[in-house]
Amino acid sequence: MPAPTALPACPDCGHTPATALGALPDVAFFAGRRLVAPLPGGRLLRCAACDLRWRWPLVTGFEQLYDNSAVDAWTMGPMRQDQQLVHDIVVSRGQARNVLDFGCYSGEFLARLPARLQRYGVEVSAAAAALAHERAGATVKATLAQQAADLRFDVVVAMDVIEHVPSPRALLGELLERLAPGGLLIITTGDGANALWRMVGPRWWYCYFPEHIAFISRRWLEVHVPAAGAKLLDVQTFNYLQQPGAAKRWWGWLKYLVRPAHQARKRVRHLQETGRDLGVPGGGLVRDHLLVQVAR
Ligand SMILES: [Zn+2]
Repeated sequence: MPAPTALPACPDCGHTPATALGALPDVAFFAGRRLVAPLPGGRLLRCAACDLRWRWPLVTGFEQLYDNSAVDAWTMGPMRQDQQLVHDIVVSRGQARNVLDFGCYSGEFLARLPARLQRYGVEVSAAAAALAHERAGATVKATLAQQAADLRFDVVVAMDVIEHVPSPRALLGELLERLAPGGLLIITTGDGANALWRMVGPRWWYCYFPEHIAFISRRWLEVHVPAAGAKLLDVQTFNYLQQPGAAKRWWGWLKYLVRPAHQARKRVRHLQETGRDLGVPGGGLVRDHLLVQVAR
């Protein structure tokens, strides 16, 4: 007799069956845009072989929400923690001549690179891509395939991108293909194996967002980077939100775990007052993001 709910094979290594970690919340936002009805959150699954965690089943058809005319105002405020870390690595590569920022949005990262570096971007939002071209002088295309076929990059950067694709392994392969010999690929994303996340499963803040669909870890990298013919140079963890108020954040997180219904009411109030989704607490508590360096 077949299992009542057959779980799928791992989208990255094909291992079967997946392990179910629990139900994800239904959320009426996608990439910050409000939806008419909540998206079914589905379940958080994990692959015992390569350690990928992913959202299943995937509700598709919302990807076009990434391409919209609204672009956040160009601020050039302080760089985000991940942008600063990646910036420092790129600047230290004195021999690099060009950089590709995959998912460059409005070019805030590219614009701050030294003038000696040629800038390239991939950005699905046409409005953001236009802004990146204007402000950073970058050659920006909607897809990687649209960049000149013979172009290879000394540095490829993918910040906060890999959690948005159904197969991180497939994206890793595409990015490595465009890396020049001796080039460096830098990835930042949430750490799927973070200890607090493992403890609370689908209640972790990072998998609340429906546009976050796949989560890698150090173990995932140790499996898939060598399999792609590349070398895993370095894996570090960092805190995405390095802001004051740690005690208050921990208290807010514990309250959310103990009284989820109370936090849900707070989200509804916040939505009514601001039109925005508050998300769930947990961000900024610990070093829950990965900074990865891969060489070809
Ligand atoms: Zn797997």
